[in-house]
Amino acid sequence: MAWQNWSGSVTAEPQQIVSPSSESELSEIVRRAVKDEQTIRVVGTGHSFVPLCATDGLLLSLDNLQGVVALDESRGVGTIWAGSKLHQLGEPLLEAGLALENMGDIDRQSLAGAIGTGTHGTGPTLGNMSTQVVGLHIITATGDIIEISTTNDPERIHAARVSLGALGIVSRVTLRLLPAYRLHERTWVEPFDKCFARRDELIAATRHFEFFWSPRDDACACKALHPTEKESHELEGKREAVPGRLERYVQEARIDFSHRIFPSERNRLFNEMEFAIPEAAGPACMQDIRRLMLERFPDVTWPVEYRTLGGDETWLSPAYQRDAVTISIHQAADLPYNEFFAAAEEVFRAYEGRPHWGKLHAQSPAELAALYPRWEAFQKVCQALDPQGCFLNDYLREIFAVNP
Ligand SMILES: Cc1cc2nc3c(=O)[nH]c(=O)nc-3n(C[C@H](O)[C@H](O)[C@H](O)COP(=O)(O)OP(=O)(O)OC[C@H]3O[C@@H](n4cnc5c(N)ncnc54)[C@H](O)[C@@H]3O)c2cc1C
Repeated sequence: MAWQNWSGSVTAEPQQIVSPSSESELSEIVRRAVKDEQTIRVVGTGHSFVPLCATDGLLLSLDNLQGVVALDESRGVGTIWAGSKLHQLGEPLLEAGLALENMGDIDRQSLAGAIGTGTHGTGPTLGNMSTQVVGLHIITATGDIIEISTTNDPERIHAARVSLGALGIVSRVTLRLLPAYRLHERTWVEPFDKCFARRDELIAATRHFEFFWSPRDDACACKALHPTEKESHELEGKREAVPGRLERYVQEARIDFSHRIFPSERNRLFNEMEFAIPEAAGPACMQDIRRLMLERFPDVTWPVEYRTLGGDETWLSPAYQRDAVTISIHQAADLPYNEFFAAAEEVFRAYEGRPHWGKLHAQSPAELAALYPRWEAFQKVCQALDPQGCFLNDYLREIFAVNP
């Protein structure tokens, strides 16, 4: 049975792809697979660029476990089936007067997949999506369904939020939510030097600021989102004409509910590397990446994305105990990227960057252990819940330095 990820960079031949419709069915499938010594991996929508989901054993999809389980508007929490796609959540949450705290560039991912790799948006005080998790149901290697929450298991919640599917299958997620809110979006282009010189001011001015730097134009497409009480008919101003490659990043100013504003469309396939750099070193790192691209890789035309990310306490979060800047580089899916990405990784390495778990990197187990102070603690939770490593594929064994 053939499987491939979104960009086509990963292919696999699982023995079976199964989509259970209940937690009890999921438990039964896990029990059987463990007895048959099959490797079990779970896939969301395959938007990760690395072989996290690849297996020649059992590939589980939670496409039949989607939707809202329960929402509590007064407490601002909601329990959601882990296979739900982010784009399916906005409207039911809005009907209950609720919304996600933040979202990334797209809304095509599954909830568990996005959380499990530390997927994030932008905002200097806002953590990645997993920071909103207050509880999870996990089906472990014994087939048991355990609940790990901030109240019943305040230690292991730090392992379970970003777990790369290594602890077991997440079936439900309980999230902290905000009252529904509207965002005012403004997008514009300005020369890199101007944008970069006033980046602190731009970051401070709105709740979510980011820019895409285009190496061909040496200009930035800036995007600023800020909560507003206004409605769209109160907007003024016209879209400015945009020369060059940044055209598609700029549009009319908009106001709408947050889930309709956050996501963009990504219709062209690409591969990506992203590192979270300690906040204070982010600007110098960005300058080094810019220099690298202009001097050594002038043919790469894909923009570099620069975002901010609040620190958190999740053991495998790239923002673990430090506020960060995230810098992402891209290359078209049908063009070679190895040499460029390897050179960029040297720059990220020099700034003690931590890789995005869903994106390309070549960090060794020793490097990862040095970057993540709770690396061993995470491994211990893994080994306790899955002593035989049933949920580990070759890629995770390599990263965790686990012998086959
Ligand atoms: C076009 C594009 C745009 C992107 N934009 C952003 C962005 O703005 N910000 C950002 O941070 N990242 C971004 N990413 C990366 C993406 O959000 C992550 O790779 C995310 O993990 C993908 O979600 P998914 O549902 O496809 O998960 P998958 O890639 O299918 O799986 C990711 C991991 O989650 C695990 N997993 C999935 N479901 C479960 C489950 N039920 N239980 C346990 N483990 C599970 C998998 O085993 C795997 O380890 C982008 C990627 C693409 C392709």
